[in-house]
Amino acid sequence: MDGLFRFVTWPRGGCGWEDSAIGRMSRRLGRGAHRVLGRAGCRSCGKCCELFGANLTATPGDVARWTREGRFELLARVSSMGHLWIDPATGTRLSRCPYLVRIAPGRARCRIHATKPQMCRDYPTLAHGKRCVANRLFPLNH
Ligand code: SF4
Ligand code: SF4
Repeated sequence: MDGLFRFVTWPRGGCGWEDSAIGRMSRRLGRGAHRVLGRAGCRSCGKCCELFGANLTATPGDVARWTREGRFELLARVSSMGHLWIDPATGTRLSRCPYLVRIAPGRARCRIHATKPQMCRDYPTLAHGKRCVANRLFPLNH
């Protein structure tokens, strides 16, 4: 039994796999995957909302959803051309999204997250290479 055990265990000092080309490649891939995964997904920094929040357009689906949900305060901020976000008092477009809330340095929250515009839900798209302005990667099915 002892002989069999010695036969199937790796020789002392390792089998050399760790130093082989495959071993080195595997370690490099592992480090690469770790780096990519470490930069994946939304960190709620709010940069995209600050940059693009004043240049959104509502889709027909947004308007239908807000109508169904009775979100008249949101519908009042849609222009006749579908532009967001309109000041209902003046009819002019706001210079920033009114639903973006800063909760800490580098951290933000969307006050209408559950029913935010489709453009916000879809960002970053394939046209952005699934990479947001904060250089974070998103899965294809995001
Ligand atoms: S810029 Fe990127 S990480 Fe920041 S809130 Fe937008 S999607 Fe999330
Ligand atoms: S509606 Fe929400 S997700 Fe869209 S820009 Fe405003 S804060 Fe950002």
